[in-house]
Amino acid sequence: MLTHPRLAELLEKVDWEFAQEAHLGGCLYCGAKLHRGDYERKPRDGPWSWDKRYSFCCSQEGCRRRRTPPSVRFLGRKVYTGAVVVLLSAMTDGISGKALSRLSEVLGTTLYRRTLRRWQRWWQEVVLGSAFWKTARGWFMPPVVEERFVSALWQRFGADSPEGLVRLLRFLSPLSIP
Ligand SMILES: [Zn+2]
Repeated sequence: MLTHPRLAELLEKVDWEFAQEAHLGGCLYCGAKLHRGDYERKPRDGPWSWDKRYSFCCSQEGCRRRRTPPSVRFLGRKVYTGAVVVLLSAMTDGISGKALSRLSEVLGTTLYRRTLRRWQRWWQEVVLGSAFWKTARGWFMPPVVEERFVSALWQRFGADSPEGLVRLLRFLSPLSIP
């Protein structure tokens, strides 16, 4: 699914919409117009060639603050793309060595088990304790099983299809803003 052309297309479309919305909204502090000021990104993985994250700078002298819209491609400061982090984190029951090397091949980068463990800690320690999740958890009935957080969300959002995975990444996109 990671190599599905539809997935890349949908993710790019959503990020572009987020960017337009932020641009039109203007500076969050003074309301002035925003200039484009994208961040350079070097995702380490994937069949994608995304090297920029949309971001804007206030045009007003003396303010010049930054406004970075949420993103479904880049999740937080991770060097891996959101789709990869979510997909691999959802496979909580363990990934065989064979599957891991096949994934590394598809992504063109070596994936280590310690990276996957670091992501699990991030979900459990950072995301579950975040203000975002404290609000969002109430939207699910029955409640999401937090011990199996990402795989539970994966099922709720039907993330086996590109559309479902994009829905899930859109839901998680508040986590993409520093
Ligand atoms: Zn401003």
